[in-house]
Amino acid sequence: MFSYRHAFHAGNHADVLKHAMLLGILRHLTQKDSPLVVVDTHAGAGLYRLDGDYAGTSGEASDGVVKLFAALAPADPTRGVAIKEIAPMLQDYMETVAGFNPSGQLKIYPGSPFIVQTLLREEARDKLKLFEMHPTDSKALAANIAQLKAGRQVAAARLDGFEGLKAFLPPPSRRALVLIDPSYEIKSDYQKVSSCIQDSLKRFATGTYAIWYPVIPRPEAHELPRRLKTLATQAGKPWLHATLAIGQADERNVPGEPERGQGLTASGIFVINPPHTLKPALAAALPQLLQVLGRGRGKGQTLETGG
Ligand code: SAM
Repeated sequence: MFSYRHAFHAGNHADVLKHAMLLGILRHLTQKDSPLVVVDTHAGAGLYRLDGDYAGTSGEASDGVVKLFAALAPADPTRGVAIKEIAPMLQDYMETVAGFNPSGQLKIYPGSPFIVQTLLREEARDKLKLFEMHPTDSKALAANIAQLKAGRQVAAARLDGFEGLKAFLPPPSRRALVLIDPSYEIKSDYQKVSSCIQDSLKRFATGTYAIWYPVIPRPEAHELPRRLKTLATQAGKPWLHATLAIGQADERNVPGEPERGQGLTASGIFVINPPHTLKPALAAALPQLLQVLGRGRGKGQTLETGG
């Protein structure tokens, strides 16, 4: 069950989309004074080394965050991609990632817990609740969180996030963002996500729920966004659905070197009760992400809303 390690994938195109959107949502939710509870049901290790063994083996960040920085914030300004005005959501994302890399070189990648933590407000008594089941990653997460010295603002537990979430809904302040970001390494995760959303909407219908999923040729993966649309519609709640496909890498294999697969080429995020600012922010950011990260056949982006 525990073969998935996010360290292999940290900073890939799916993380770029997910974490840029997470910031876009949080920027809006942290504008109101009342306390916000953020629950990250599948937290990962929190921080990742981009020059470490895991990331080096898969090289996925080179098609994600590394490529984005090389294009939009190049060390040599004559070498970037010409984009007149970087979308504020991407600018925000890049500044946040850069904040973890004061040397100016991309060495550390912040996972969702650390991205969220940068926006939590002490004075508003915001809270972050994290769940991570992997024995090694949950230890790494606890150690990384301890360094923050965030006290009771951030709490991590080695528990099933689908189950653990229930205890926090509804939150006393009636304001929450829930990120559901499983690895989907087991097929039942798709069903668990649907059941979790169905149950969560009963407990707390006005929360904001962001669900990440891989766009892969598997019936469960196709079905999930459809099912989520139905659940949101039945609950009478608005939704937003964004996807980014970077397409095939034709020149992936170098003669004489071990063969590399295409890896994950597309992913989507489904948000229930999205802030009204999210759609225009994505409408500006997604075409730029595609321009910079898009590779070959199959690349594209979609953005739809409903409810
Ligand atoms: N949210 C993280 C981020 O954006 O930086 C990445 C999370 S990764 C895609 C999914 C994580 O969920 C893995 O670290 C895996 O060990 C963990 N996991 C798997 N099943 C779980 C469960 N039922 N509850 C909590 N964590 C789980």
